Amino acid sequence: MAKAVALFSDGLDSTLSILIILKQNIEVKALKFLTPFEHTFSLEVLFLIAEKFGFEVKLIDLSEKFIEIVKKPKFGYGKNMNPCIDCRILMLKEAKAFMEDIMADFIISGEVLGQRPMSQRKNILYCIDKEAGVKDYVLRPLSAKLLRITIPEVRGIVDRDMLFDFRGSSRKPQMRLAKEFVLKEYPAPAGGCLLTEPNYVYRLKDLFTYNSGSNLEDIRLLRIGRHFRYSPSCKIIIGRDKDENEEICSLSDHGCLVTVEGYGSPTALLLGDVTDEALRVAASLCARYSDAKNLSEVDVSIKKGDDRFVLKVPPATNEIIENLRIELKAHAKNSSKTKKWIKSSFL
Ligand code: SF4
Repeated sequence: MAKAVALFSDGLDSTLSILIILKQNIEVKALKFLTPFEHTFSLEVLFLIAEKFGFEVKLIDLSEKFIEIVKKPKFGYGKNMNPCIDCRILMLKEAKAFMEDIMADFIISGEVLGQRPMSQRKNILYCIDKEAGVKDYVLRPLSAKLLRITIPEVRGIVDRDMLFDFRGSSRKPQMRLAKEFVLKEYPAPAGGCLLTEPNYVYRLKDLFTYNSGSNLEDIRLLRIGRHFRYSPSCKIIIGRDKDENEEICSLSDHGCLVTVEGYGSPTALLLGDVTDEALRVAASLCARYSDAKNLSEVDVSIKKGDDRFVLKVPPATNEIIENLRIELKAHAKNSSKTKKWIKSSFL
């Protein structure tokens, strides 16, 4: 029986591509790549689809390799910080290695011609395949009839007549096809890549600028909480809900934790160079987001390593929030006014 390796993402297109190939009595082994730049979504849905339609899914963690291409993509970025061409090349290289390992015949991918301006043009798709060393081995079932014939078609493994000619960003043909396959459960299209989101990218650029040695944990933290840049070597993260507070607490080994006892309060985490002044600023921010925000002074609990103590601080003003927050619209560089505010409040 012929065998294909599929790139299985969190979208409808890759799922449909697999179903099209399964319909031709070809065995499919799907690869789901994990990176720190995906919206969190339940992998359970992918496994449910796989079980329902009869194919296997293998998870491959690409985090470390992916961070490297995000920092320095050979083929540049898309509209934001999305290195789509390098990303597809990396995934296809991984798929190629797996294809050789399990002696599969070809690779399938859910790309639709013209759906994305950067990586889904005909000549770019061909370049990506060539660069990844899989020229003519990648079949894109949804747009195959608009593309060059591939090796599995030439060899008669795949019937080209049963493939499609979808083009562009309309989702209607895919929705129709999903109905035909009775594919009701598939991951929501709201997921996707954080590298295409300006606000997330703003945080990521801040991290790369001030922390060239940033690790996976630093990158994972970017998706939770409100982020504040206190100094080039110190940042403050404040949870927005119970789940984020718990996640921040679980990372307390790496920094200093701040919270307001006795009131509804977020948990704040300080990372980097934690000076006394930075601690007081973090405490004031934490107080501001707590239920004690209307008090003129708030007792804020600090946990720094084995030390526990309380700082009495006023809740932060709008001005300090706006000036320190790492956020696209509200961001402004530390103004002298803000520095003055920090001095008069805390020193
Ligand atoms: S949007 Fe993100 S995941 Fe998708 S190809 Fe581009 S970099 Fe890769």
